[in-house]
Amino acid sequence: NIAIFWFRRDLRLEDNASLYHALRSGLQVQPIFIFDSNILDDLEDKADKRVLFIHQALEQIQAQLVGLKSSLDVRHGKPMEVFTQLLSEYKIAAVYTNHDYEPYASERDAAIAAMLKEKGIAFHTFKDQVIFEKEEVVKDDGKPYTVFTPYSRKWKAKLNAFYLKSYPTADYFNGFHKRSPKALPSLEDIGFSAGSFSFPDPELDPKIAKKYTEQRDFPAVRGTSRLGVHLRFGTISIRQLAKQATQLNETYLNELIWRDFYHMILWNFPRVGKGLSFKPEYDQIKWRNNEKEFAAWCEGRTGYPIVDAGMRELNTTGYMHNRVRMIVASFLTKHLLIDWRWGEAYFAKKLLDFDLAANNGGWQWAAGSGCDAAPYFRIFNPYLQTKKFDPDGAYIKKWVPELNELTYPRPIVEHELARKRCLDTYAAAIRS
Ligand code: FAD
Repeated sequence: NIAIFWFRRDLRLEDNASLYHALRSGLQVQPIFIFDSNILDDLEDKADKRVLFIHQALEQIQAQLVGLKSSLDVRHGKPMEVFTQLLSEYKIAAVYTNHDYEPYASERDAAIAAMLKEKGIAFHTFKDQVIFEKEEVVKDDGKPYTVFTPYSRKWKAKLNAFYLKSYPTADYFNGFHKRSPKALPSLEDIGFSAGSFSFPDPELDPKIAKKYTEQRDFPAVRGTSRLGVHLRFGTISIRQLAKQATQLNETYLNELIWRDFYHMILWNFPRVGKGLSFKPEYDQIKWRNNEKEFAAWCEGRTGYPIVDAGMRELNTTGYMHNRVRMIVASFLTKHLLIDWRWGEAYFAKKLLDFDLAANNGGWQWAAGSGCDAAPYFRIFNPYLQTKKFDPDGAYIKKWVPELNELTYPRPIVEHELARKRCLDTYAAAIRS
């Protein structure tokens, strides 16, 4: 009899909540990963770096497991079908995994749980990717918060050493199922192309953390942690990171609280992850949705240097600085009056750190449709933003070197005209 441990967005052996419980169950633990074809089939880019990232993380886990005389069992397919196969190959007494708050994942897990239950097999799930989840931090009346500041206050009041403690999984590593190594499928085997890329290190640089408050808003400075992709795939533990943040920098901790906040929102209000505005009246906005303008935005040809720099950084590196994410998102929704869902989908394709909860939260914040969003009449002025946050133009020069040449496009829309058009359009929807 064995226990299956199912890796998803928690690709590490150390300080992994559900893995810890599995290893302590007394059953031999067989770790698995599923390249989920329901997700992979939707990826257009067959050289998608996120698949490469997962593959590299699995290779590292495999090397650790082989050293422990165990092995990953990595499959490719639809999870329900993969589990049917696993049930015919292993004598499974229990399945362990960590919570995933996205609507697709909740439905998938409910279906797997029901299937296992029919066979008398327990499905044990644990909180791992956030500090506080679901209904752990709620208002005094028991309802979920929809405004960040009071949420963060309650979050901080509830925090204590218990919630930051790492799970000592390594003490129980002899609980892995002993077996000969099973080869991982290659990227080609799952329909992707092999590649190489140097991802940021999965560690918080204390020098960056200490100066975070002063430097995080300047895209030309290496002032943020670049840990998004590691938090997304769980190659770093949120407990370990939040603990460091409590010691190093409160502003940084605050950003990790935003991350918990948006996961909490997505879980309590799954409609936001299904294409609906948090504030329903914002779904009345008459978007212009001009396809040519959308293409110019995607390709960094709007004639607004800060916007174009951001989009080019994204297209080239899979990363965009947070300040610039806010600027380009505001520009798309307010200056061009293009539906935030178009921008959300484009970011979802391109960002290495793409995360449904944070991306949707960021887009609805910029569009004004989200919980605790910027009021719609506050429209970022890209020129003033540049003056404040890229004062010597270093970021723009890096990404838009042809700025002073004739080939650089004229502004796609004049700022004052766009501002007025946006106010009129939003007001009409919100009044109605
Ligand atoms: P740091 O500034 O070093 O922050 C550390 C970590 O805190 C981040 O890695 C992230 O996990 C978390 N964090 C920081 N800011 C936020 C925030 N506002 N909301 C939620 N979590 C936050 N973040 C994503 O992780 N995935 C996304 O898909 C995503 N899409 C965004 C879309 C828009 C339109 C906007 C405005 C923001 C988006 N963000 C997203 C939030 C933020 O821009 C990124 O988390 C951050 O830029 C990642 O870089 P970093 O790791 O250096 O961040």
